[in-house]
Amino acid sequence: MKIICIGRNYGAHAKELGNDVPTEPVFFCKPDSAVLPKGNPLYIPDWTNDLHYEVELVYRIHRLGKNIDQDHASRYYDAVGLGIDFTARDVQEAQKQARLPWEKAKAFDGSAVISNHWVELDDEQKKQVQRFHLEKNGDVVQRGESDQMIFSIDAIIAYVSQFMTLKIGDIIFTGTPAGVGPVQIGDELKGFLNDQEMFKVKIK
Ligand code: MG
Repeated sequence: MKIICIGRNYGAHAKELGNDVPTEPVFFCKPDSAVLPKGNPLYIPDWTNDLHYEVELVYRIHRLGKNIDQDHASRYYDAVGLGIDFTARDVQEAQKQARLPWEKAKAFDGSAVISNHWVELDDEQKKQVQRFHLEKNGDVVQRGESDQMIFSIDAIIAYVSQFMTLKIGDIIFTGTPAGVGPVQIGDELKGFLNDQEMFKVKIK
């Protein structure tokens, strides 16, 4: 299973980090070892002083495909969930400055939170807007809607599958809305999709 992540997919978030709004999708991968086991806390690695949450819609691939036409892309996923793309922002900034890849900052153990369950989608539900938010210690810190994404899940599938074969069980993180921020020991993050609680993560 591979995890494909899209960066800068909400205009307001691209700007909050001082990035241009992209003209084509920006993507990177996390290995399967990045998945935080369900129910586990996330221990802040000792090599970062600025660990950020990024709440994101995630989609589950359920069909093998390569060079997928955007018009057919919705046949290649069957469910939506919610995740966190944990990012060591200080390390990412150093990598960006040095024009080096982001994996150190984004692909470490526990950096991918994936919701406890998935919401299966039929053809009609795939056309509906997905609303989500993240709470930190009970306060809403991020809100987003699927129709605010610069590149839709269908556009992402068409784009990424030009370079990588999509396989059953692969997961796509679709980028985060504005409002990213740091976590500290003792924080609790809760993610909601259409007001349904999808995950809870303790920071240690
Ligand atoms: Mg992200």
